[in-house]
Amino acid sequence: MTEEKLSTFTAPKGTYDLLPPTSAIFLAVREAISAPARRAGYGYIETPVFEDVKLFSRGVGESTDIVTKEMFTLARRPESSESLALRPEGTASVVRAALEANLHKLGNLPVKLWYSGNFYRYERPQKGRYRQFSQVGAEAIGAEDPALDAELIILADDAFRSLGLSDYSLLLNSLGDKQCRPVYRAALVEFLAGLDLDEETRRRAEINPLRVLDDKRAEVQAQLVDAPRLRDYLCEDCKAYDEKVRELLTLAGVAFTDDPKLVRGLDYYTRTTFEFVHNRLGAQSAIGGGGRYDGLSEMIGGPALPSVGWALGVDRTYLALEAEGVVLDLPASTAVYAVALSEEAKTVLFARTVELRRLGVATDLAFGVKGIKNAMKSADRSGARFAVIAGDRDLAEGVVQLKDMESGEQTPVALEALVTTLKEKQL
Ligand code: AMP
Repeated sequence: MTEEKLSTFTAPKGTYDLLPPTSAIFLAVREAISAPARRAGYGYIETPVFEDVKLFSRGVGESTDIVTKEMFTLARRPESSESLALRPEGTASVVRAALEANLHKLGNLPVKLWYSGNFYRYERPQKGRYRQFSQVGAEAIGAEDPALDAELIILADDAFRSLGLSDYSLLLNSLGDKQCRPVYRAALVEFLAGLDLDEETRRRAEINPLRVLDDKRAEVQAQLVDAPRLRDYLCEDCKAYDEKVRELLTLAGVAFTDDPKLVRGLDYYTRTTFEFVHNRLGAQSAIGGGGRYDGLSEMIGGPALPSVGWALGVDRTYLALEAEGVVLDLPASTAVYAVALSEEAKTVLFARTVELRRLGVATDLAFGVKGIKNAMKSADRSGARFAVIAGDRDLAEGVVQLKDMESGEQTPVALEALVTTLKEKQL
């Protein structure tokens, strides 16, 4: 008989399982990168992981890679006329939810929201690029104010810095508005028409010429060196807006680099766009990005609600921490580990374990039938500061052995004093 394989299933291509101890780092990253937004008046929002596919085709843009090539659409039940897609990004859903609940009419504008969740794009998987990935995002809906753009950029920068990241840059650009962008677009179309481009790029140049600027291929970039720059076409309003954003960033000590070719892969952006790029992540270097999207609400059937937001990549932030050698100072998941040397001792230690946990001390217990050697190995692996060991002889004397796992020192402690002794150590 051949040996049976443990499991015939593996995680789908482009996805991965998050397991301890790495999963604890992911939780800490989500917590840390959302903290600045939570402190700045952003309320938590959760929306479904799937939406009407039209929300994304209208909101994100018919000609974007995200919509044309990367969307996971769901096979619908025959009786339903809806067509659904797994969300490829968060902004369209958040604006849809805010409009549906009339949040923009209920209180003061802007409506400030933050989210955390998984997103889905059918991409060619590689390191840092997955088909399911995790983002923390923040959106400020319904206000046109350069201070709001600056606030969000500063919050994202604070988020990365709070984790100890430093080897990254902030790229900044302005995409203009409906006044000046068409003028620039026309100039760019004319310029692109004179280039030697392949059929697909030529088509893209017709539908969305700005996207060509974002082409990663060196042979395309070489031809774009003299492309007209949006910065030179900005109208007075856009220029003044952009200058104010820059001034506020500088005042806050946030460094940025002008990137006139930064257009990003979503159609809804206007004016301020930005991207945080990490210097040690290779090809998939964007750890977060966002911008102003003044037209999105109207594109999906709402009133005019100028808005701005960002999404930070949790997977890539984790990779950036790894690349910079940053080790987060996480509390050990177990502070106390109990090892019983007999059935009776197990019953006693089980009760104390429950008591300690209820008092807030992270406590674990050796389960199953294990020899002391194996049980102590588990105690060691758990990362606990103290092990509590007890056998029949200890209990007969009314004590347990308290072992300091760092020094190796072991001292008897009265059973009745165990919980208060450990509680006092403020583990
Ligand atoms: P975007 O919505 O494309 O602006 O993405 C915002 C952030 O999400 C990026 O800066 C990345 O950090 C992250 N991200 C986007 N797509 C992926 C992906 N396929 N895999 C991992 N992270 C991603």
